[in-house]
Amino acid sequence: PHKLVWFRNDLRTGDNHALYHACQNSAEHGVIAVAAITPTQWQMQDEAKCRVQFWLANLEKLKQDLAALNIPLRIIHAETNQELPEQLLNLAQQFNVRSLYFNCEYPEYEQKRDQQVEHLFRQQGIRCHTYDSDVVLPPGSVLNQQGFAYKVFTPFGKAWRQLYLQQPSTPLPSPAALPKRQDDVVIKSASYTENGSENYCDKVPVDIGYKNQMGANWNSAFWPAGADDAHRLLQQFVHERSHNYKQLRDFPAKPGTSSLSPYLSVGVLSTRQCIAAMQAYSEDPDWFYSQWVTELIWRDFYRHLLVAFPGMNRWQPFKPEIEAKISWQYDEKRFRAWCDGETGFDIVDAGMKQLHETGWMHNRVRMISASFLTKLLRQDWRLGARFFMQHLIDGDFASNLGGWQWSASVGADAAPYFRIFSPMRQTDRFDPKAEYISRWLPQSQDGPLFAQNSGRPAPVIDYSLERNRSIDEYKNSSG
Ligand code: FAD
Repeated sequence: PHKLVWFRNDLRTGDNHALYHACQNSAEHGVIAVAAITPTQWQMQDEAKCRVQFWLANLEKLKQDLAALNIPLRIIHAETNQELPEQLLNLAQQFNVRSLYFNCEYPEYEQKRDQQVEHLFRQQGIRCHTYDSDVVLPPGSVLNQQGFAYKVFTPFGKAWRQLYLQQPSTPLPSPAALPKRQDDVVIKSASYTENGSENYCDKVPVDIGYKNQMGANWNSAFWPAGADDAHRLLQQFVHERSHNYKQLRDFPAKPGTSSLSPYLSVGVLSTRQCIAAMQAYSEDPDWFYSQWVTELIWRDFYRHLLVAFPGMNRWQPFKPEIEAKISWQYDEKRFRAWCDGETGFDIVDAGMKQLHETGWMHNRVRMISASFLTKLLRQDWRLGARFFMQHLIDGDFASNLGGWQWSASVGADAAPYFRIFSPMRQTDRFDPKAEYISRWLPQSQDGPLFAQNSGRPAPVIDYSLERNRSIDEYKNSSG
């Protein structure tokens, strides 16, 4: 009999609770791993091409890391989640699997998928074991004094830190250990390509029938696949740059942030490992209270919200009373201009060009761009959120939803309605020499912003007019 570990967005062997527990006392039960290729599902859920490429390349790396532990990886193909439970069960029955292990994913859609699998497996007498490995503290564990989920980040963060420090493993909870090497199993690893010996990384993109051709290709030089490189980049950031994070993180032309989000998104790195790296390599004695750790807590926060307020999973705003008063414009011309980086507002367009060319956008510019679409072009935040997902290499349902609702002032702990980022003012503050802008919009290099003769489009809106309209609308909604 075997134990089966199902990998999803947790493509790592270290600090992987499902894998770790499956490997305990496994002398009589060989451990095998499985991952599912679901092209139509990916498309339905707006997975960006670069993210799929990155996920697949990391899966290949994971296969090697698992091989070092003597654990074979099998690949199953299912077009959508609908066929997935049956396919998984077929594999489980083929290898006489007695128990299934996996780490929870928190969006409702993924939870439903997992419940269907659990139901089917239970009917066949196969036990399922689930773990919280994608967060540092599981949803439902950080509650206010009345026992409810926090709706505002600052008290959440405070409670999160207190709880973290109270955890039993002192001085701090460490990531789960790498499991020990397993006894031999006769099963061989499979590859998702026809020819198992092909190295995916050498020939991107492999045609796996995934038709989302939008956006950038994965840049393997900037984000090399695999845990070894991810940890090297993590250590490098913590050692060399984390002390400057707070000062530099808002300047998009500077390498002030970690750029580790793609690894966190597909689970090659866990947040717990990031925190452990801070503990091990940061020179800041106060590292636990640093801004970078606060950002990692935001990631947990948005996951906790999805579980506590399930309506968010169905694209409902956290604050429907605000959204009810807003009349989104659904103006295709405006939306297209934003998508294409042709609004005539340089910092917005530069951000969209960065997104198109790399699959990533600096956080400050994500905020400016999302605020611009929702509050100045007055387009529905859901359009922007889906567009981001279709293009981001770090596309993450919870963080993206949170970021968009925050920007549109309809989220939990959202930006106040009167905060409308002025693209001009933001440029003055965070890109004063237009370094970021000229990197992504070479046309605007020599001319002043909005120069009509620079080959840049004319501004798509009258800034002051739209700003006032927007403020009026939001003001009425909250008054
Ligand atoms: P760093 O500043 O180095 O932060 C380290 C890590 O903390 C990040 O990798 C990320 O995992 C986490 N983190 C940082 N900021 C946030 C945040 N505000 N919310 C949640 N987690 C955070 N992040 C995604 O991972 N996926 C998304 O799809 C996504 N969509 C966004 C959409 C909008 C409109 C906005 C405003 C923000 C979005 N973010 C998203 C959050 C943030 O922009 C990115 O996490 C960050 O830019 C990634 O760069 P980094 O790895 O250099 O981050």
